[in-house]
Amino acid sequence: MSRLDIFIDRMVSQRACLDWAIAETATMPGPVFELGLGNGRTYHHLREKVAGRQILVFERAVASHPDSTPPDADLILGDVRDTLPATLARLGATASLVHADLGGHNLEKNDAFAQLISPLVEPLLAPGGLMVSSDRMYFDRLEELPLPPGAVPGRCFIYRA
Ligand code: SAM
Repeated sequence: MSRLDIFIDRMVSQRACLDWAIAETATMPGPVFELGLGNGRTYHHLREKVAGRQILVFERAVASHPDSTPPDADLILGDVRDTLPATLARLGATASLVHADLGGHNLEKNDAFAQLISPLVEPLLAPGGLMVSSDRMYFDRLEELPLPPGAVPGRCFIYRA
């Protein structure tokens, strides 16, 4: 498989999983968390598709497309290792949907980081809330769900609280 194939599979899977998870949690009132703004493509997708829920964006250094930059009030600036516990203290277990795309090109580093932040993400989800992640997560209590049609196994993961 070429890097292009892998990239395309990741993008297609992100969209399929996000669309499915947005619909699945549509009646939940709690906020949506976007972990890793990057260029802002998935944030822009969430903004287009999520109705009636606040989208809070966690990012250490904003470098997004101007069309895909959240308002200051929705931006939680800093390292997620600090901002996730601070958000738990402020909001409790209220998130209806968490999307994480925090990784880079180094798969071993991505996996180590996913292990590190799994216990920080787990308590943020409201009962029934979903997490969509580009990396396999290491949760104690969340259940891994089958992927929706169109998603490629290993390129995206979905978990339910
Ligand atoms: N999903 C985004 C998109 O569609 O454009 C791409 C996200 S990009 C792959 C990953 C982002 O996560 C980067 O902007 C990086 O700065 C951010 N990030 C990585 N580690 C982080 C950390 N520890 N705390 C906060 N942000 C982090």
